[in-house]
Amino acid sequence: MKNFLINQYKKDSIFKINHNYLKKQFLSNKKNIFKAITGVVKNTDFTLGKSVNLFENKIKSLLQSKYVVSVGSGTDALMLSLKALNIKEGDEVITTPYTFYATIGAIVTAGAKPIFVDVKNDYNIDENLIEKKISKKTKAILPVHWSGRICNMKKILKISKKYKLPVVEDACHAILSKKHGKIAGNYGEFGCFSMHPLKNLNVWGDGGFVLVKKKKNYEKLMLLRNHGLVGRNKNLIFAYNSRLDTIQAAVAIEMLKKIQNITNKRISNAHKLDKYLSTIKDINLIKRDKSSKEVFHLYEFRVKKKQSRNKLLTFLRNNKIDAKIHYPTPMHLQPAAKKYGYKKGDFPNAELIADTTISLPVHEFISESQLKFMFKKIKQFFS
Ligand SMILES: *Cc1c(COP(=O)(O)O)cnc(C)c1O
Repeated sequence: MKNFLINQYKKDSIFKINHNYLKKQFLSNKKNIFKAITGVVKNTDFTLGKSVNLFENKIKSLLQSKYVVSVGSGTDALMLSLKALNIKEGDEVITTPYTFYATIGAIVTAGAKPIFVDVKNDYNIDENLIEKKISKKTKAILPVHWSGRICNMKKILKISKKYKLPVVEDACHAILSKKHGKIAGNYGEFGCFSMHPLKNLNVWGDGGFVLVKKKKNYEKLMLLRNHGLVGRNKNLIFAYNSRLDTIQAAVAIEMLKKIQNITNKRISNAHKLDKYLSTIKDINLIKRDKSSKEVFHLYEFRVKKKQSRNKLLTFLRNNKIDAKIHYPTPMHLQPAAKKYGYKKGDFPNAELIADTTISLPVHEFISESQLKFMFKKIKQFFS
């Protein structure tokens, strides 16, 4: 087993239009961030220092949440939220097969079994198929707001209430997403976010946080992230070490100053692409929901003819556009899921999306001419 990421970084850097914007971002605000880091180093409050509290307070007001607990990653945000609900071996958690590995990793490392429900054309869990999957063992529902499109939370919360099943939102793609004026992460008992370097709000390493509604859950999470300690010499529960580093909190505070601009730029880039690409009849765009503010962690469209997808992908990549697939294999067909006995055909919509989807970069450094170039190349491919 090798660290495959080093080669991946090399492979990704050959493109002209890239998904990875970190070098540009670094050049545009390194001065402020280095200054903030120096401040932490001088204070030496590396673990759960001042910047951590400050960051949590800023998130609290930005996302209008009662409580916020920062943690070591988005994966830990999910796993610790499930742990706070006392989820354990033998329990089941209902979720989507069309997600990033971490959603399922968090469920499994919390001890539970992931129970998949197929997705709709918007890549989100099909709320109408959830009830059929509820059993005596079900302990939570874990919807993912894919790409920053909020799931049908009205229906999901109705189910949650009817069956007394708490909702843990995977909002890792969805910072500042809104639907009917309500901010992502505030629907469920827990709203989980990642600050991985390639998320809309990022740090220079790993980080995450959880929005929490109830005091009881907040206190449990605070214990879980820091060894179960209430003081230097008092250990209430044996738990984890998953703290947001003070250095990363300082980086996050600087990045938070940009998040509105980053979000607005992603939205405007995506809307422009929607306008351009709607003229190409060989692809399907995702239907936009007028009641939602979608924050475009990804910009995806679907190729109508399955056989053309990989050819278009290769064509775009040969033209120095870092087109990608997020992701080519749904979770139930991953080798890691083998023990659950799922097979091809179990979640036909998730499988079809995985076979036909393509993502284009829409981050804040993508220019109008780059958007036009991507459009031109896709059009050229189909003509
Ligand atoms: C990134 C991501 C996570 C995990 O976040 P990390 O900070 O990388 O641990 C979880 N769920 C989804 C949907 C994600 O995209």
